[in-house]
Amino acid sequence: MNKAKRKAVIAGNWKMNKTAAESAALIDALIPAVQGAGCDVVICTPFTSLVTAVEKCAGTNIGVGAENVHFEKSGAYTGEISADMLVDLGVKYVIVGHSERRQYFAETDETVNKRTKAALAAGLTVIVCVGESLTQREQGVTEELVRLQTKIALGGVSAGEMARVIIAYEPVWAIGTGRTATAEQAQEVCAAIRKVVGELYGADVAEATTIQYGGSMNAGNADELLQKPDVDGGLIGGASLKPADFAAIVAAAGK
Ligand code: PEP
Repeated sequence: MNKAKRKAVIAGNWKMNKTAAESAALIDALIPAVQGAGCDVVICTPFTSLVTAVEKCAGTNIGVGAENVHFEKSGAYTGEISADMLVDLGVKYVIVGHSERRQYFAETDETVNKRTKAALAAGLTVIVCVGESLTQREQGVTEELVRLQTKIALGGVSAGEMARVIIAYEPVWAIGTGRTATAEQAQEVCAAIRKVVGELYGADVAEATTIQYGGSMNAGNADELLQKPDVDGGLIGGASLKPADFAAIVAAAGK
């Protein structure tokens, strides 16, 4: 596989952290820290910080994303945000199917698929999260499960739209736990995901698709993970709130 054929992308997932004012301060610190990065840099903020983030990041190398999106265009969905609303703000990316949404907000493979299609139709780039729980890993079903999650998430997505799909392999047991997958485990599953993408869309699309690893990636372990041939970047939670750590991960991805 040829890494040169695809973009390395480091995306921060801020989760439910930072008020708008705190976000502004964090972005002020991030802008100089990631200037001139050798990879694409994205920050996914709470909805309430998106306006601030888009304004602050204009003219910089930082793209702005949301952490979720609803699949309907508009209507009686109290508390939800549509893809058009995000696009209207200048948002370019959205995370879909994060394991915390699957775990706490009844997200299913089917709704992940609906959100993915709606976001793509609106012109967003989608970071689709897949990954197994610890029990599933111990049962030896990781590859089967991640293949299935990937296939369902991408149902109805065209080969052309795949240019705006990033897949994040995020083992649930590694998210926010400080327990990282080994570089070999990350490589094994990212390669399996690329294989499914190849089965669905052919080798050219598979080679061009960015596949990230996420799960306690930090300044200390990023280098080893990102050197693996099928690990094209990272989705970063905790470390994305620390400018120096996030910048170190961005630097590792740009090597
Ligand atoms: C995440 O939220 O997607 C994530 C990977 O979190 P953390 O880096 O904190 O494990």
